[in-house]
Amino acid sequence: MTPSRSEPAAIIRPDRANLFQKRHPWVFSGAIQYFEGSPTDGQIVALRDAAGQFYGRGYYNQRSQITVHVLTWEDQPIDQDFWRGYLQRAIQARRGEFERGDSPPAFRLINAESNGLPGLIVDRYGEWLVLQALTVGIDQRKAEIAALLMALIPDVRGVYERSDADVRAKEGLPSSVGLIQGEEPPTLITIEEYGLRFQVDVRAGHKTGFYLDQRENRRILRESVREFRLEGGSVLNCFSYTGAFGAAAWAGGAGSVMQVDSSAEALVLAQQNMSLNGFAVRDQDFITGDVFRVLRNFREQGQQFDLIVLDPPKFASSKGQVERAARGYKDINWLAFQLIRPGGLLFTFSCSGLVDADLFQKIVFGALVDAHREASILRRLTAPPDHPVALTFPEGFYLKGLVCQVW
Ligand code: SAH
Repeated sequence: MTPSRSEPAAIIRPDRANLFQKRHPWVFSGAIQYFEGSPTDGQIVALRDAAGQFYGRGYYNQRSQITVHVLTWEDQPIDQDFWRGYLQRAIQARRGEFERGDSPPAFRLINAESNGLPGLIVDRYGEWLVLQALTVGIDQRKAEIAALLMALIPDVRGVYERSDADVRAKEGLPSSVGLIQGEEPPTLITIEEYGLRFQVDVRAGHKTGFYLDQRENRRILRESVREFRLEGGSVLNCFSYTGAFGAAAWAGGAGSVMQVDSSAEALVLAQQNMSLNGFAVRDQDFITGDVFRVLRNFREQGQQFDLIVLDPPKFASSKGQVERAARGYKDINWLAFQLIRPGGLLFTFSCSGLVDADLFQKIVFGALVDAHREASILRRLTAPPDHPVALTFPEGFYLKGLVCQVW
């Protein structure tokens, strides 16, 4: 396509043009020499050099450190066909999810940069979609995107927005929550995950309501209880949220499951989720508290467990926080190693993208040595295929986990 004369353009500094060979979707202000035209925030701009060489096209935001989010490297218009095409491709990539057999299904439909759509997250919970618009460019087009999604997936009844993530502030956006298209979702949506049922609060729950990125790891935990002969054993699910790892442990044959979270509301839902699946609910098994303290108390009491899950929230959101995060990870892993019976398992995770897999393994190793235990890694875990990582966007890799057997 010949770009229209009126289309604004970001003119790339000659010494930065080589960056585009890597096709990273973020263009920082330092790479831009000047603008042709005066783009407004959210508007589509072409990326060119002063000689007119075309590099790509994306949406602009002067208020963000990422001045342009690239949508395409081809000289094509960003019109309804473009959005429909990318949404269709993301849906097609998830055919396996649509056919997995869980009913109602729950999975991530659009994973932002890694599905070629920077700033857009869409999760499916049965007949509803929950959308997060993390940038101005997506925020301005969310109604159009929601309408396209409803047309593409026939059994969807509504699209609900949960744009209340902290990153919105970096784009100069206030949070925005509510219905975008179709019907209001019920207060709680029941979903199925490998035969287990969970109630999801899409209006007020964390993220879009549920930690869909841990689905395969919960299945692996369930199988591990059997595989490592821990049936009848005691499980401690730390940072339990609404109890999903705990339900997986019960389903695998655990004899008791304790769930710890700082959020009382999350634990109310965790109790309901255990009942929903026919698992035992005893008040003393749901502990509202700080995991760091609860683990110390267990150590003082000499309590032991056959399997412990550590799935903490993101400890590091910036490079400056990595050291403190590392201390936090080390502390909880050090405590957990001391509480595990010989032959028992530790499922330990980090969802801080800034703590890479190598560093995380070193931290867990440090914790082990200080705990004077022995352990080996049985499995390395990450997010499932509905949370892909584009090779051009390594920042998309954030979730890593280790399954360790402890002696
Ligand atoms: N494992 C969960 C997801 C965990 S998300 C699942 O599979 O669904 C992290 C959880 O940790 C959140 O529910 C949050 O409320 C809780 N949390 C954060 N800091 C905590 C702390 N210091 N002690 C206990 N829980 C904490």
